[in-house]
Amino acid sequence: MSERLTLVQDGQAASVIVTGDNPCPSQQMAAEELQYHLEKMSGAKVPVVRESELGDKPGVRILVGQSDLLKSLGIDTTQIDRETIIVKALDGTLILAGEDGGQLDPYTVEFCDVAVRTGTLYAVYDFLQDQLGCRWLWPGKTGEIVPQRKTIEVGSLDIQETPKLFMRHFRPGIRERSKDPGEDHYPRYAEFLRPLFNPMRIEEQTWLKRMKMGRSELIVYGHAFTDWYDRFIESDPEVFAEQADGSRGLPNSSYPKEFVKLCVSSPKVIEFAIADFMKKREADPTFRWMNACENDGGLGFCQCKTCREWDKGPGEDQAKDAGLDGSEIDGNLGVSSDGLPNSLSYRYFRFYNKLARKLREVAPDAYVVTYGYSRYRNAPAGMKLEPNIMVGLIGFNTYPMTAEQIAQQRANYMAWRKTGVEKMFFRPNSFFFSPAHGIPWDAAVQMGEDILFLVENGTVSTDFDSLNGHWSTASPTYYATARLHWDTHMKADEAWREYIEAFGPAADAVGEYFLHWRKVFEDTYLRPDIDKLSKQADPIGGWLGLRKVVGMLFTKELFDKGRGLLEKARKAAAGQEDVLKSINVLQIGLDHGEKMVKAAQFTVARKPDKKVRFEDHWPVVVEIMKLREKLAGLHAHNVFWLDAFEIRMHDMYGLRVYYDFYKQPYAPLMTPGETEWAFLPDPEDKGEAEEWFGKKIEVPAELIHSPYQHIFYTTWDGTPPMIGWKRASGNDQVRHGWYQAEFRPDMQDAKPGNVLYIPYIRGSAKVWVDGKLVREVGEGEGDMDRAVAVDIGSIGVKSGKPFVVTVKVSSPAERGGLIGPVYIARPEGR
Ligand SMILES: [Zn+2]
Repeated sequence: MSERLTLVQDGQAASVIVTGDNPCPSQQMAAEELQYHLEKMSGAKVPVVRESELGDKPGVRILVGQSDLLKSLGIDTTQIDRETIIVKALDGTLILAGEDGGQLDPYTVEFCDVAVRTGTLYAVYDFLQDQLGCRWLWPGKTGEIVPQRKTIEVGSLDIQETPKLFMRHFRPGIRERSKDPGEDHYPRYAEFLRPLFNPMRIEEQTWLKRMKMGRSELIVYGHAFTDWYDRFIESDPEVFAEQADGSRGLPNSSYPKEFVKLCVSSPKVIEFAIADFMKKREADPTFRWMNACENDGGLGFCQCKTCREWDKGPGEDQAKDAGLDGSEIDGNLGVSSDGLPNSLSYRYFRFYNKLARKLREVAPDAYVVTYGYSRYRNAPAGMKLEPNIMVGLIGFNTYPMTAEQIAQQRANYMAWRKTGVEKMFFRPNSFFFSPAHGIPWDAAVQMGEDILFLVENGTVSTDFDSLNGHWSTASPTYYATARLHWDTHMKADEAWREYIEAFGPAADAVGEYFLHWRKVFEDTYLRPDIDKLSKQADPIGGWLGLRKVVGMLFTKELFDKGRGLLEKARKAAAGQEDVLKSINVLQIGLDHGEKMVKAAQFTVARKPDKKVRFEDHWPVVVEIMKLREKLAGLHAHNVFWLDAFEIRMHDMYGLRVYYDFYKQPYAPLMTPGETEWAFLPDPEDKGEAEEWFGKKIEVPAELIHSPYQHIFYTTWDGTPPMIGWKRASGNDQVRHGWYQAEFRPDMQDAKPGNVLYIPYIRGSAKVWVDGKLVREVGEGEGDMDRAVAVDIGSIGVKSGKPFVVTVKVSSPAERGGLIGPVYIARPEGR
């Protein structure tokens, strides 16, 4: 029997949203999200009431979440599988409910953070998406596509779904730890960013829920034995790896304790690991994940006789039989510099087999959780693994890929499956390693097909690192990837198409636009000489070089073509404001990408020891950052990620200078190259007495961190060279730090009115030029409203005549330092 339910009639509410009397926060949010979308669609505000307030209110009842009313219809969501959704029309009632267990604290939960299950919320989103055609292309209002209609009716509905992937996870890209580590130290710039952080974070988490990302259960994993050194080195040294000199523990005196390796053939390791697990199990009898991932770090694997005995695998024939190609066999069988085989998978999985058998005796439903990673990333070909071992694969990390590369990734995955592993979890870095940083990119279909392949072949959970939020340039890939996490029966191309179709009359043009960029990235990144080009683009090469390669290969014509397609899209969508606002976001993303290519040209092949001149680069920097501010204003790109990632990647496009000059009446002319700067800690405060300002400051070897120096961007404590200094000196307190560089000015630098410019100082400072004190800066004075500027005439700068700038920063009580380098700058507008 088919019945039609009218929710809204001619712009008037014809229904009422009913929750239980004590809805949990996610059920309340579900009711509000439904109300919000119905109103956006039709103009009618459908009331939300508790069931005891319902009385004889007229209209169709929309039951959202568990309630007594729902129970009276025979539905109890506490009795269905975790995260299951029910979307059903029954007796003139619309039911949108799901399994909502697992709340830790109903009043403080963050919807995406903990083991909170939100089936009701998914039911509402599933209904809005599949029945009413709503699409969420990206977080925030500009990504919402809500079809317009004055009357909203639904026909017969009877849907019940449980996700195949019990954990569907993109690590959020807007969170405290993904922020720029130095952000707090440039307060003028942070003033613009900070108010955006929380609203955009909530929108990102909401988008993840709208795409039905979440988890039925929290699995625990990560390097598992990081506290064992302190716990057991005195009492039970035999649980730790035997080193080349016969000792047990760490390979050298400065190796981090949390990287200590185990002697996995020692029976005590199993005994202690089981005891740790049982403690958790006693506290929570449903706890069933024994984290047994070996510690991180590439050194110090066990050299003992038994472990070496365990390294013997079944040989090359079985490896071939298990689907490993030549390179993987070499990887498995070759010998490494420590004298052990390259692949230690046989020893580790012999250990995991023993551990799994022991675990099954005490906890039959529990799993040993391991990584396929580091020296044990290749499958132990020919071996049979216990069924209660779960392996986390870190792979499929880069897109686009060639057909051969995909085949190889899949073969390694299937080699794991052939060992008998039933459950795999997937921990890719494919968003993180995307070669596109704020440049239009599309890898939706390749990535989607791989996810479907994995789900088809035993993958039960995902954990992507991280959702970097390039919404204005890469949203189809995020969208399709998320979509396929729930609807695993869909095809990857269908998921991509669904994103495109959301643009309505502009769909064809938007589709062509993203296909264009898909091809551009394939033409560029699948070139056989791409690694050579990456090396040319940057002294480090690798991922850094690959991201700079755009400066060498991306032409104006590629962007012109993109612009033409968006123009076509705009024409097709004329009059449709909601579609036009989304196309506008893509347009800003395109403009941003084009400028990023220009910025990359500035840093391609730039040596870190060469002075940096800003005349041509500065206008591009300003244009890029203005576009980012526009995107941030629309909440349509994770600008926090853009900034923070660039700094982590050695300021790869030279944009950091913007924060240094943000809202100041100066523009940069030059600064010495990064490695021309010397930095020396002065914990005893003896530098002034020894007149360091009058001599060349020599930097000890442990403070050199080539080829990039990184003494700026944050306070002195956070810089990589200081980690070496702290370890070598045993000193944790810098207190006073000295910065020095030689400036070699050009003609234009000596103009009257120009200044020596210091953007941000944490602490107090003294500035010398050629040994002569030219400025003292009081505590706090250097990071307030204005940067410190010293008139260039007063220090006798002449074109062509080099001079040495020395700055001492004092901050005895807290972390201090120069946050940006010293520049020669000109008044803005001249
Ligand atoms: Zn051993």
